[in-house]
Amino acid sequence: MCGIVGYIGHREAYPIILNGLKRLEYRGYDSAGIALFDGEDIKLSKTKGKVNDLEKKIESEISTNGTLGIGHTRWATHGVPNDVNSHPHYSNSGNLVIIHNGIIENYESLKKELLKRGYSFASDTDTEILINLIQDIKEKENVKLGKAVQIALNQVVGAYAVAVFDKEKPNEIVVAKLGSPLAIGIGDGEFFIASDATPFLEYTKNAIYLEDEEMAIIRKHKDVKIRKIKDDSLVNPYVQELQMNLEQIEKGGYDHFMLKEIFEQPSAIKDTYRGRLLSKEAIIKMAGVEDNMKKFINAERIIFIACGTSWHAGLVAEYIFEDLVRIPVEVEYASEFRYRNPVIKENDVVIAISQSGETADTLAAIKLAKSKGAFVFGVCNVVGSSIARESNAGAYTHAGPEIGVASTKAFTTQITLLTLIALRLARAKGTISSSDYRLHLLELEMIPEKVNDALKSEAHIKKIADIYKDVHNFLYLGRGYNFPVALEGALKLKEISYIHAEGYPAAEMKHGPIALIDDNMPIVVIATKKGHYDKIVSNIQEIKSRKGKIIAIVTEGDTSVKELADHVIEVPETLESLTPLLTTIPLQLLSYHIAVMLDKNVDQPRNLAKSVTVE
Ligand code: GLU
Repeated sequence: MCGIVGYIGHREAYPIILNGLKRLEYRGYDSAGIALFDGEDIKLSKTKGKVNDLEKKIESEISTNGTLGIGHTRWATHGVPNDVNSHPHYSNSGNLVIIHNGIIENYESLKKELLKRGYSFASDTDTEILINLIQDIKEKENVKLGKAVQIALNQVVGAYAVAVFDKEKPNEIVVAKLGSPLAIGIGDGEFFIASDATPFLEYTKNAIYLEDEEMAIIRKHKDVKIRKIKDDSLVNPYVQELQMNLEQIEKGGYDHFMLKEIFEQPSAIKDTYRGRLLSKEAIIKMAGVEDNMKKFINAERIIFIACGTSWHAGLVAEYIFEDLVRIPVEVEYASEFRYRNPVIKENDVVIAISQSGETADTLAAIKLAKSKGAFVFGVCNVVGSSIARESNAGAYTHAGPEIGVASTKAFTTQITLLTLIALRLARAKGTISSSDYRLHLLELEMIPEKVNDALKSEAHIKKIADIYKDVHNFLYLGRGYNFPVALEGALKLKEISYIHAEGYPAAEMKHGPIALIDDNMPIVVIATKKGHYDKIVSNIQEIKSRKGKIIAIVTEGDTSVKELADHVIEVPETLESLTPLLTTIPLQLLSYHIAVMLDKNVDQPRNLAKSVTVE
């Protein structure tokens, strides 16, 4: 995920692009860059850091004249955030320049071909491969830029919103979209391009939102021609009049980043397995795992180290790893682990989990584990973060920036990634049958659609939130794979609504929490069909006889729990090991709506910080 901006018209492009990037910084903020056409040549400046850093650098580096330009604020997926990997990227000829939001999955095979044809690459990005593929096609086939972009994109697997221009033909910008957003602002003889409409709201309220697999050739003083990338057919542009204000558009029309991020989970999960889960070939490909397969296979123990929500993801992974890979697992709070005298052996594999990759305790725990000879694998969202650098190997979740302090999409994408690792290792160790393995891959691929279905319960959940928003205590219960989900549900409620909530393994209820139950106490019970269903139904009966109020998360079509519970929220059916990816969704929505009704600051709850960089 990143922000892209472009301008072609009669005004100075630089201030429009710079301000636009500032507004899009919520989409990515590890590096930024701008390319302008000054009437003769391309002037390009880029840097690691924020748009403010670019602003400081750019004016001493290049002249900022020109009425054509493109800009980018990056959230790295391929190649660490540094000056060279920042966008825009040139093609080898120096004539073409590109900005890109997304992931080119098959960049490795395209790169091999281009290397054979004599191309070289300055950066580690997938984007630089694409711009050179476009140049290659343009020269080889002797076609215009638009055609070359189209042919190239037909060879590309992945997701993109791109903008490209050619200094030899500086009267047009070519843009295209698949899976990442792209809006075109229509002015009077001038055009704006952006990931959302915020960069051009003060110039025009007329916008075209490109659909997936569409491209547009935008000509200065002329028009916008939209075509389907696959079959070249012309598309009639649909120009909308924008009604939203700046803030609403930044949040994608949602009231809070947290809600936006909850609703982003289908695409975030897809981005996590994109290019890694190849279901047709029944393959899982992850370089960090492949390159260290021996370490994993010979591991006597896997130790997950994390804090907060990431620790809950580690707990879910404990079930998956022990179940599928048959390696003993421990899940440790980083803050406890680092101050104990833990027994670590050389054959231990430590998997450290952190959204930001900057969590101080986790970082210190990694250093301790490494000093004792363990192999450390990092699971982070932020590319190039301290934990990513400190680990021996790792994999990114590719969830895109998470702005809301309460973690949502980071959690489900961590689980997705850890599931992929477990499945890959199980296959390598032979602890999963090939039919079970294939079934897992197919089911995992269906999760984004099922998360979408789970999100449809929002209106129903809002009604439940309204009933219980004024209580002072909540209990969350789950068993097996859904015990960590109960912990996570309780944490979400505490974090943003400041209501006291406890998560418990359902059977442990009898050893204490049951004493709390009375007719004022709401108890959220995760009671999906797969996994200890009968046991959980008994637990629900125990609660019922003490007059507790039951909010049950059930599998679609469930009838037994429905008879007992005060409220049921349905989620689609899936494999037991994948249920946490679905049962988490209603719990996120419940805590969100309670907090909103209580008028709390959902995105920045009191006393909390997004990334805990102090111990
Ligand atoms: N895959 C590209 C990169 O890593 C674009 C990432 C983005 O969307 O910011 O540079």
